[in-house]
Amino acid sequence: MKQKRITVAIDGHSSCGKSTMAKALAKRVGYAYIDTGAMYRAVTLYCLEHDMIKGEEVNKPRLRRHIPKIEITFQVNEEGKSDTYLNGKNVEKEIRGMEVSNKVSLVSAIGFVRRAMVAQQQAMDKNKGIVMDGRDIGTVVFPDAELKVFITASAQVRAERRFKELQSKGDTTTTFEEVLANVQERDLLDSTRKESPLRQADDALLLDNSNLTLEEQDEWLYQRFVEAATR
Ligand code: C5P
Repeated sequence: MKQKRITVAIDGHSSCGKSTMAKALAKRVGYAYIDTGAMYRAVTLYCLEHDMIKGEEVNKPRLRRHIPKIEITFQVNEEGKSDTYLNGKNVEKEIRGMEVSNKVSLVSAIGFVRRAMVAQQQAMDKNKGIVMDGRDIGTVVFPDAELKVFITASAQVRAERRFKELQSKGDTTTTFEEVLANVQERDLLDSTRKESPLRQADDALLLDNSNLTLEEQDEWLYQRFVEAATR
């Protein structure tokens, strides 16, 4: 059956494997993949580098002046993976660390930051054929996406996955308890913020992947993709 090019919006809680699934689907169907969490993480790194965060306070007037100067791009590396660039510098490693993870929900709650990121994200879908993951993709960025999926898993399972990932990247100082606390805190901040809180779009399909293998979740998403692209 003939498939049309569609927009795939994947939202869900922190560390539930959204990006792993989204990347696998994009590769399988030859679509572009955009990790919007990486964009908010890059803005957060910019704030940290420019000393704009004191405790739980972001210096909003300064950030507002700087936001037009923050350019975030993606480039595929030699392993075929997409790296995040902040004003031309590869920041993929820094944006995944705990320093950024601990502050990103403060920065992503700011209205003018969201508007700037959403405008950039919407411009990336001119020709469809995109898989985008985040928190507000199905609700705000692409409310008309042909396929919307909302992914979740228990906080314990998500923290275990994130902890293993950090360890595999050589982080031997962060404890499991710190990771679990970060996951729970981001859930709370992301779903209770005023600007575009994390919520399942009314027409999004729900997937709890706590007990699924990577193969099972990838196959589930691919089948939903085929249905949506041939509808
Ligand atoms: O997806 P990831 O966990 O890397 O996202 C990091 C943070 O960026 C989230 O905790 C959330 O605060 C923010 N975010 C957002 N909207 C998106 C994607 C991420 O607010 N579309």
